[in-house]
Amino acid sequence: NNCFLGVAFCLCTTTGLFATGRRPIFVCMSIGAYRYVIVGSGFLGSVVAERIATQLRQPVLVLEKRNHIGGNCHSAVHAGTGIEYHTYGTHIFHTSNEKVWKYINQFTTFNSYRHQVLTTWRGRVYQLPINLETINSFYGINLRPYEVDSFLQQEVQKSNVPPGDSMEAYAIRLMGRPLYEAFIEGYTQKQWQAHPSTLPASLINRLPFRKNYDESYYHSRYQGIPLHGYTAIFEKMLQHPLINVRLQTDFFAVRQQLHSDALIVYSGPVDRLFDYCYGPLRWRTLRFEQEVVPYEDYQGTSVMNYAEAAIPYTRIHEPRHLHPERNYTRQQSLIIREYPATAGAADEPFYPIPDAANQELVLRYRALAEQTPNLLVAGRLGDYRYYDMHETIARALELFETRILPQYA
Ligand code: UDP
Repeated sequence: NNCFLGVAFCLCTTTGLFATGRRPIFVCMSIGAYRYVIVGSGFLGSVVAERIATQLRQPVLVLEKRNHIGGNCHSAVHAGTGIEYHTYGTHIFHTSNEKVWKYINQFTTFNSYRHQVLTTWRGRVYQLPINLETINSFYGINLRPYEVDSFLQQEVQKSNVPPGDSMEAYAIRLMGRPLYEAFIEGYTQKQWQAHPSTLPASLINRLPFRKNYDESYYHSRYQGIPLHGYTAIFEKMLQHPLINVRLQTDFFAVRQQLHSDALIVYSGPVDRLFDYCYGPLRWRTLRFEQEVVPYEDYQGTSVMNYAEAAIPYTRIHEPRHLHPERNYTRQQSLIIREYPATAGAADEPFYPIPDAANQELVLRYRALAEQTPNLLVAGRLGDYRYYDMHETIARALELFETRILPQYA
């Protein structure tokens, strides 16, 4: 009986891997035989699976609900134009963490792309993060770097700064009301469907503010786009013969068939794992709309933000700019408009909403996870934290080294 199940399972796995363009791997183990089960094949799940296979040398089952590996970091080649794009929005790999950099370079090399973002407000293009160029062109002045502080202080004094530590208060204290209203207020309202006065300042801490002409988005020591896309990284991580990836398989549908002593590493939404017993966490999601335009270059950069609340999308991605080393078609370009939305039950959650109510809820779910034997919950959705890719990889390595290796080696 087990063997029959195993064969059926192998066929299923093989089909799944063909769909990702990978070599099929024949691992004839029934689903109930695995002692290591990973839920989700984004960076959290894929790194942990890779570590278990290569360091513990144990068979590991990866359950992936979608029809592709890589979670929200998945990349694909657009059929019409041949341009590689990031399925869930532009992902720039950047880190100053030596360990993460060394780890990821086992699976890819990176191109020399350096991220730069621009923003459009009232039909004009400005540099982002807000820097001296943004300030000077916004006000029509020509400040020098050593004049910026006193200029902004005067702007802040005129601004009637709201009390408290909301994102709005933080931003107005930092840049004064006019810059805040132009570049932060509308964009944030679209992105979070909440006014910055109700959001924590931590959401915007990740957006630098510069008083010189530095227009680089990140100051990480290492930065780039994987030379062959993100999906190729996940293929390489998961191609170990001890790793069995099962696509289009919902953990909740097969949970009862798993080995009762299996270690489950769960990287999905933590509230779903516990059947929303304390109530649902709130999430933001994104919707993407692709268009092929008859220009080699539509907007001159990979990401153009749209600051005004009246424009329904937050940004337009033009992925050809992510790979300057490639010879893409000169006749067309692919552009992708990004629309934020509140995540319903059927939507993919993208962003946790770190307001007080959600934070309190997630602490209760975390406590529940800690009390559950043979269960580890982590990742952007599992931890309900706004991780970047390098932070997720660091979290996965730490999880393996501190919670899996010592107990199961
Ligand atoms: N933000 C903004 N204006 C912009 C870009 C970002 O006000 O033009 C704020 C906004 O609140 C956003 C946060 O900064 O949620 C972080 O932006 P980032 O682009 O880092 O977010 P991500 O790329 O992760 O969506």
